[in-house]
Amino acid sequence: MKNIAVIGAGTMGNGIAHVFAQNGHEVNLIDISEDSLEKGLATINKNLDRMLAKKTISEETKKMTLNNISTHTVLKDGVKNVDLVIEAATENIEIKLGIFRELDAICTASTILATNTSSISITQIAAATNRPEKVIGMHFMNPVPIMKLVEIIRGYSTSDKVTKTIMELSKNLGKTPTEVNDYPGFVANRILMPMINEAVETLYNGVAGVKEIDTVMKLGMAHPMGPLQLADFIGLDVCLSILNVMFEGFKNSKYAPCPLLTNMVMANKLGVKSGEGFYDYSESRKAEKVAPQFS
Ligand code: NAD
Repeated sequence: MKNIAVIGAGTMGNGIAHVFAQNGHEVNLIDISEDSLEKGLATINKNLDRMLAKKTISEETKKMTLNNISTHTVLKDGVKNVDLVIEAATENIEIKLGIFRELDAICTASTILATNTSSISITQIAAATNRPEKVIGMHFMNPVPIMKLVEIIRGYSTSDKVTKTIMELSKNLGKTPTEVNDYPGFVANRILMPMINEAVETLYNGVAGVKEIDTVMKLGMAHPMGPLQLADFIGLDVCLSILNVMFEGFKNSKYAPCPLLTNMVMANKLGVKSGEGFYDYSESRKAEKVAPQFS
């Protein structure tokens, strides 16, 4: 498991690349967008500087981590001779199926194909390949360098051997892998997203404002971040996609996304990554100011 490819250099992809590179793996970071690759590398650099300032890593570790990462815009250039591919591209089933079909055709037969999807069926993604036993969910949490959990999702055909390899690899990265089965939303988002959706519904119904809802959940439930701030941090488009996957997968209206969430995504108010969601991030990336339409 020396050579790794990470597909997608966005919020999650750059964090996954960072963690593997810091643990001595050679990482090919791949994205169709040159701009995403540049921003991804800049984020890794910034996060390493923060760790350096806190003295949790040395200058040599920073140098080694950056040296271990190379970037590519063409998929086949980055995945030819790797032991593991982790796909962290946009949460869209057609994009993911296309990537896995291509990976199956290019990668050597022994390469394990993992996806960081938040909700899409691992079994369905695996069925797009001729190696379903080597396809697995490796669901890292945001921000990847800090969060300990990796939800390991076994698809219907994922082998015991591949599951064991990925569990061990995750432990070697200093993470705590937890094995779950493949049903919509898995465990993390099946529980988290209905809470976020209910917080949006509470705002939509005029029960309380953005800051009030977040304060109740932070101080009342000891959550480190309120649900609306967390939604901004995850990305409202990602939250909407996950809710839609659960809504369709379970055919249960309790997962129906709040119309306010759908409207905000259509208006490109995606949270931190677009500069505005429930909070306004134009001056800082911290959730200090409520977005104009909620203030
Ligand atoms: P993002 O929008 O920040 O980044 C996605 C990246 O994928 C973009 O840079 C885009 O250019 C790239 N991309 C799109 N199509 C591609 C292709 N065909 N080949 C290569 N790159 C491509 O998204 P994100 O938040 O990093 O989410 C990535 C994955 O991680 C999704 O499956 C999401 O559900 C999952 N996830 C997200 C979070 C979160 O908090 N955001 C947490 C856990 C898991």
